[in-house]
Amino acid sequence: MTAPFSIAIPGKPYEGASPDPYWFSTIAPRAADAALATDITCDLAIIGGGFTGLWSALKARERMPDARIVVLEGGRCGGEASGRNGGFCAPSISHGISNAMERYPREADRLIRLGVENVEALEADLERYEIDAEFQRAGKLNVAATPWQVQGLRSMAEGFAAHGLPSAFLEGDALRAKLDSPVYSAGVFDPTYALVNPSKLVEGLRAACLARGVEIHEGTRVTALKKTKTVLRLTTPGGMVTTARAIMATNAAEPLLKRFRTAIIPIFDYSLVTQPLSAAQLASIGWTGPHGIADSGNQFHYLRKTADNRILWAGYDAIYHKGSGRDAEMYHREESFDRLAAQFAQAFPSLADVRFDYAWGGIIDTSARITFFTGTALGGRLAYALGFTGQGVSATRFAAGAMLDQLEGKKTEASELSMHRRFPVPFPPEPLRSIAVRMAQKGLAHEDRTGQRPLMLRVLDRFGVGFDS
Ligand SMILES: Cc1cc2nc3c(=O)[nH]c(=O)nc-3n(C[C@H](O)[C@H](O)[C@H](O)COP(=O)(O)OP(=O)(O)OC[C@H]3O[C@@H](n4cnc5c(N)ncnc54)[C@H](O)[C@@H]3O)c2cc1C
Repeated sequence: MTAPFSIAIPGKPYEGASPDPYWFSTIAPRAADAALATDITCDLAIIGGGFTGLWSALKARERMPDARIVVLEGGRCGGEASGRNGGFCAPSISHGISNAMERYPREADRLIRLGVENVEALEADLERYEIDAEFQRAGKLNVAATPWQVQGLRSMAEGFAAHGLPSAFLEGDALRAKLDSPVYSAGVFDPTYALVNPSKLVEGLRAACLARGVEIHEGTRVTALKKTKTVLRLTTPGGMVTTARAIMATNAAEPLLKRFRTAIIPIFDYSLVTQPLSAAQLASIGWTGPHGIADSGNQFHYLRKTADNRILWAGYDAIYHKGSGRDAEMYHREESFDRLAAQFAQAFPSLADVRFDYAWGGIIDTSARITFFTGTALGGRLAYALGFTGQGVSATRFAAGAMLDQLEGKKTEASELSMHRRFPVPFPPEPLRSIAVRMAQKGLAHEDRTGQRPLMLRVLDRFGVGFDS
């Protein structure tokens, strides 16, 4: 059996593509929020203006109507992962049902319920705050390219049924009515999944925060974080922030506190977006519905349509740069764009001539447990949420609530999950880190080719260590 994707590169159909995410082009250009230029004192300082930071600010405002809440964003709100993702809004906080069952068997039922409730509450929040993020319960089709992936999908459907969740196993005409590709032979449709436009979600959250008196400073990087007996002090180039409490929502950036530097690694993930397609082109691949799609390998693609009928085709490569590199030039990787373009042509031969208008990269904060974790540090004054590992569009909202509970010292269902109680298994220091990631990736690729999980990965599974994007 050969790998499902294995063909030659057809030129560079992304030549001249914008290196910025397509999503950036869908929001009105605006001036940056002013950088901090003086010393200030506040009740809650939030470091990072992505989904996690902005949900934290908005949810904090609901709890503390009179507090001074300040968001400190090093670049632009939504400039990193929150504006670079696929916009798949999972009804899950545990990176899926099977991950919940494997990693948290005793808590799985609760995690699965909380994930479903979180998306319902997210949808309600969008209505309440009048945020147009193109939220749509479009559903997600998971597709299989090999016999063992088909088997995996059957187990997935059983997992859904066991938890009373709707899904449909599709083959033949039923599959072709949702996606017609020579590569995929079966699918599981999950109708509860939603899609959003990530940049519109960021801008909507930002506007809702500003309208409620949250202060947002862009271009304001926090360079140091210190605790005194009574307060926290955050150093920025423009001034010192003295605050009673803080939230660290910095995702894949190098963590400000050393203790987190082995808990996550930065993994680059790449996306292409086609030119707008005609109804006939989309009909030629059977994709007339609004649903998103993902294939089932360890190295997987995720694909969805945009409001103007482009296809976002992303994933597969998950690139770790030695020394946990996060340099600006790493956001553009021709090798990954080439591979994505070739695989797109193989999956959709009728669209082989289509060009790509956007080609960009983003960083995923990968934890060895694949699920995020929250907690407090610095005497309970700082809360953090990290390790979303490619599934943070909805989970960040949940994490914001958990962090606020933890800062208030409240024991709630959200704050007390065992997911938070233990730190994920740390990644080793370099050079071992690079070697370990390379070996894990080789093992995952081998499994994709053969359906056989190598011994090394099975051993890591036993210790709850995974590698995903
Ligand atoms: C390519 C890609 C595709 C993805 N696809 C999906 C998907 O389809 N569905 C899904 O659920 N998840 C997806 N994810 C994951 C999801 O995007 C993230 O989990 C989520 O956006 C994390 O939000 P965040 O606010 O924690 O992080 P970010 O959006 O990265 O925000 C962190 C912010 O902190 C700022 N910052 C960092 N350090 C400092 C500092 N010292 N001082 C001040 N500011 C600082 C950064 O500038 C950044 O804006 C994807 C991620 C990527 C990269």
